[in-house]
Amino acid sequence: MSAKILAGKEFAERFKLEAKCDAQAIKDKYGVEPGLAVIVVGDDPASAVYVRNKHRTCAELNIYSEVIAMPATATKDEIVAKIRELNAAEKIHGILVQLPLPKAVSGYEAEILESIDPRKDVDGFHPLNVGKLVSGEAALVPCTPLGCIKMLDAAGICIDGARAVVVGRSNIVGKPMLHLLMQRHATVTVCHSHTKDLAAVTRQADILVVAIGRPQMITADMVKVGATVIDVGINRIAEKKLVGDVDFDGVAKIAGAITPVPGGVGLLTVAMLMKNVVTAAKMQLSQ
Ligand code: NDP
Repeated sequence: MSAKILAGKEFAERFKLEAKCDAQAIKDKYGVEPGLAVIVVGDDPASAVYVRNKHRTCAELNIYSEVIAMPATATKDEIVAKIRELNAAEKIHGILVQLPLPKAVSGYEAEILESIDPRKDVDGFHPLNVGKLVSGEAALVPCTPLGCIKMLDAAGICIDGARAVVVGRSNIVGKPMLHLLMQRHATVTVCHSHTKDLAAVTRQADILVVAIGRPQMITADMVKVGATVIDVGINRIAEKKLVGDVDFDGVAKIAGAITPVPGGVGLLTVAMLMKNVVTAAKMQLSQ
């Protein structure tokens, strides 16, 4: 058996096209483009690449975007003041603070993210949006898990009634993934570093979502034959070599469907950000 490859690029293109059409509909109806502001603090090279990519994708989709570059010496108060300014800016409908923050302010991450107007919180990290997700009424949901759900739907993989296992319980991937899968009526188990006999749990999964940050940790003996395997992990193991948290070559031989790394979930995240900007603009403009 050889798994169907869930190519992120193909799905991402489809979702971006949807966002572009929605952005155009907003412009036609309200006369404004949806607008995104990305705050980047310091000069982390990986962050710079991600931010450029977001800015370029906005331009492709006719979404207005601003990149606000702040020096690594910026204080928590200066960052919060900039966010407050953007909260009040009419042409900005979505605000994102690129993570990780430099060490000097990383201890204030929660406070900084909480200063974003929840209606403009396109990363879905504000406690109000987290609470809405848990209670099933969220509009702005973290982009990576949202992308996983949309991809499962677009690939025709049934979530309702499936046994789903999520490995990893971070606030940005694992926990929102649990809630999104549960809302779609999967029976979900979440595993983490204290889980005993991880393989015995992962082998039960019809849908296995892995977000650990450990290169190729999930091997074929941990996967049920025919399962759908979503690998969120991105690990650099050599200068130019990225791998996921799943041993792709081994697992692809027995899975029903699998996402590659690179070329899988990573590409969906930016597409979902664009969708969230459009959703946020629609909510604000229709009020
Ligand atoms: P975190 O480091 O925040 O969380 C990792 C999770 O994995 C934790 O819950 C941890 O458990 C769990 N874990 C660690 N080791 C083990 C183990 N041996 N067995 C079982 N569970 C374990 O990571 P993130 O969620 O932020 O990211 C995970 C991966 O996904 C990374 O590779 C990251 O780069 C990637 N990523 C990719 C994105 C994309 O766009 N494709 C977006 C976001 C992340 P515990 O809670 O007990 O510590």
